[in-house]
Amino acid sequence: MADESLLEKAQAGQIAAQFKEIAKLEQQKPEHIMEWVQNGKITIMTRGGKPSLGIGAGLTTKINANIGTSSDNIHPEAEVAKAQVAEKYGADTISDLSMGGKIDRIREEIIKVTRTPLTTVPIYQVVAERGSFKNVDVEDILSAIKKQLGHGISSVVLHAGFSRNMLEKLRKVDRIMGMVSKGGALTAAWMIEHQAQNPLKDNFGEVLEYLYEYDAVLSLGNTMRSGCIHDMKDTAQLEEIKLNAKLAKLANKRGVQVIIEGMGGHVQAQEIVPFVKHYKDATDDRPLFVAGPLPIDVAVGYDHIAASVGGAMASGAGADYLCYITPAEHLGLPNIEQVREGIMAFKIAAYIGDTIKYGPNNRDRVLAKHRQQQDWGAQFDLALDGERAREIHPVSEKICTMCGRYCALRIMENYLKGNK
Ligand code: SF4
Repeated sequence: MADESLLEKAQAGQIAAQFKEIAKLEQQKPEHIMEWVQNGKITIMTRGGKPSLGIGAGLTTKINANIGTSSDNIHPEAEVAKAQVAEKYGADTISDLSMGGKIDRIREEIIKVTRTPLTTVPIYQVVAERGSFKNVDVEDILSAIKKQLGHGISSVVLHAGFSRNMLEKLRKVDRIMGMVSKGGALTAAWMIEHQAQNPLKDNFGEVLEYLYEYDAVLSLGNTMRSGCIHDMKDTAQLEEIKLNAKLAKLANKRGVQVIIEGMGGHVQAQEIVPFVKHYKDATDDRPLFVAGPLPIDVAVGYDHIAASVGGAMASGAGADYLCYITPAEHLGLPNIEQVREGIMAFKIAAYIGDTIKYGPNNRDRVLAKHRQQQDWGAQFDLALDGERAREIHPVSEKICTMCGRYCALRIMENYLKGNK
């Protein structure tokens, strides 16, 4: 539990150890990190004594992997293994979205075997364990948040940015997919069942006290996002952005750091850049977390590829944090290999986004030199997934069989050197 939160330290002008740690990793000055935390532009996630992670403007784009059991697929060991694979291939954060089996045990196992910041969506566990919205009361929701924070997680996703009035408006907007956010749908269903206001919004002050106590990050959920590219930006989405921006300010005022989940899901390609800019403007440049987005709906089975294109565009336009999409998106719970594929698709998206934000990376230049010399080992050491490259081309093989003896590089090297 914190005496003073990281945000309060920044507000007091103190350079906390975590600011120095992030500054070193991101090649920035600790004073800049402190200033950006102070004005809410970056958020630092921590997890006990594990490495801290900075997310936000001026830093490299981060990626998140969702794992966890569902009501219909309960293999806790597989989910723990997926968390390890996600971490191995470069996930910056993991979200445990378990809704089946012994949820506390699964989370404890994941905490034991990983070191990246961990996020949860507390309402998932409440509904999964009670089995019906009728049996859940506000106290259950609040105590689930407190309990999960007490387990040492780094952040919670709360769908606090919508009201009953906004739900009524959602009934009237012309959407094909309606509401596709699971956490949002669970919260909304509870509100309708109990004919009540949003319990997270109504008890926001109390929730902030819990988050402050554990110095955990508040991730403001994106309930109103579109579920297909023909469900365009509408009043429901715009009102949620405004309300989330307001809640973010309140949280920061209480010393709680914030991430805004936004846009994500499905956004037409030409809308991605202006939509990211809208979010960043409307939220005073607070860290923006985007799922995908998918710029087309027809890539079923290959959604990780379509979404990584959208993710690269979003990151290049200023999104700070991308949630991966796997090939199993819209089809089922991903297996381990699909988790790896999703991670790599989004490592690539984030890397491309950063070259748009900050210019080309010298790593590409050095790799190109090794490629020109056909130094396979050195080339693969610099690759985003050198292991995959080695599977395709064992380093012991000198020749690239694509062109074989007619390798353009070798032919021209010989001719340009004058030895035909
Ligand atoms: S053989 Fe062809 S593909 Fe392979 S390195 Fe040479 S030019 Fe490139």
